[in-house]
Amino acid sequence: MSPAGAAPFELLQNVPLAPYCTMGVGGPARFLVEAAEEAAVLAAVRWAQERGLALSVLGGGSNLVVADTGVDGLVVKVALRGVSSREAGDGVAVTAAAGEPWDALVARAVERGWAGLECLSGIPGLVGATPIQNVGAYGQDVSQTVTAVHALDRRSGETVTLAREDCGFGYRSSRLKSGEPDRFIVLSVTYRLLPGRAPAVRYADLENDLARRGITRPSLADVRSSVLAIRRSKSMVLDPDDPNRRSCGSFFLNPVVDQATFERVSLAAGDPAMPRWREADGRVKLSAAWLIEHAGLRRGDGPGPVALSTRHSLAIVCREGARAADVAAFAREIRAQVEARFSIRLVPEPVFWGGGVRS
Ligand SMILES: Cc1cc2nc3c(=O)[nH]c(=O)nc-3n(C[C@H](O)[C@H](O)[C@H](O)COP(=O)(O)OP(=O)(O)OC[C@H]3O[C@@H](n4cnc5c(N)ncnc54)[C@H](O)[C@@H]3O)c2cc1C
Repeated sequence: MSPAGAAPFELLQNVPLAPYCTMGVGGPARFLVEAAEEAAVLAAVRWAQERGLALSVLGGGSNLVVADTGVDGLVVKVALRGVSSREAGDGVAVTAAAGEPWDALVARAVERGWAGLECLSGIPGLVGATPIQNVGAYGQDVSQTVTAVHALDRRSGETVTLAREDCGFGYRSSRLKSGEPDRFIVLSVTYRLLPGRAPAVRYADLENDLARRGITRPSLADVRSSVLAIRRSKSMVLDPDDPNRRSCGSFFLNPVVDQATFERVSLAAGDPAMPRWREADGRVKLSAAWLIEHAGLRRGDGPGPVALSTRHSLAIVCREGARAADVAAFAREIRAQVEARFSIRLVPEPVFWGGGVRS
């Protein structure tokens, strides 16, 4: 029997993945299935297991670098849809299926006056990926509102509900991304939002934009529109007309370092204005963008088909003719320059699929 034989769902073969990813690079998936129902996700998992094939889960492809050689296995494109809400004490519990577009969910929450997601406006991708790296921006992250992640446990084949405490959320990380990366397929996520509450304004850029607009008591909608405007000015929303559009957003995490490392980097930088944020555990978060710029790279710099965004030094953008190998090589070069200047090793934020693209 051929591996594709008797699949209980529509199975596509040799599907180019570049059009599924915001970077627009990467080779084909040997097999791909779009799963619009939970039963299809389970059937796909079983089908791959029976054939000893690797299985990868694809959302909106906005945090993903796929190798030029592609993925030798089954890719499950999550297409589960549906949103429901119910009162939960003084809040509202909103459950969204993993395939719901994230920003549409944020827009809906803002329209209804439910606080909790407004600063996460404009982030590309789908709901199912939000708990994976604890998606965050402008002082909010989803760990503040997620109450439950409903998932298929690939180990047992059962559906499970992970409470927030089970998710191991950290800065752009979770048990689902770092602890047990291939174990859970997110089917839906429940967020607890707060009707009538004021928006979160905890970020200087956001405060400044609201002040510039003369808004002293911002509504959720005001915060959403400011966040979208700030993001657009940095090419951090998906816009087909933006020359910097082909990216994964920030390519590197902001390093979180202990006090001794912070002092060493400060000394090397010799600049009291070096951005830093004190974490609750006493460590210090540094700005990867600042480190990159002060290691000698400027916006727009790059070898040609890939470059730093002209509007944000933390984004690697692809141009015509770019390959995943170019992205990986440029990322390695950036890391080497930052390491040579500050002895700090930047950690990439996106997930890498296939051989030879890890940077
Ligand atoms: C312009 C731009 C701006 C961005 N800004 C931000 C930002 O401000 N903050 C931020 O945190 N991120 C940001 N990102 C990164 C990205 O949008 C988020 O990480 C987003 O949550 C990824 O969603 P996705 O559906 O595209 O996931 P994908 O890229 O498809 O997948 C990412 C990872 O999640 C896994 N995954 C996806 N869906 C599921 C599922 N249902 N079950 C299990 N695993 C799954 C995949 O296997 C993969 O490992 C930005 C990206 C871009 C392009």
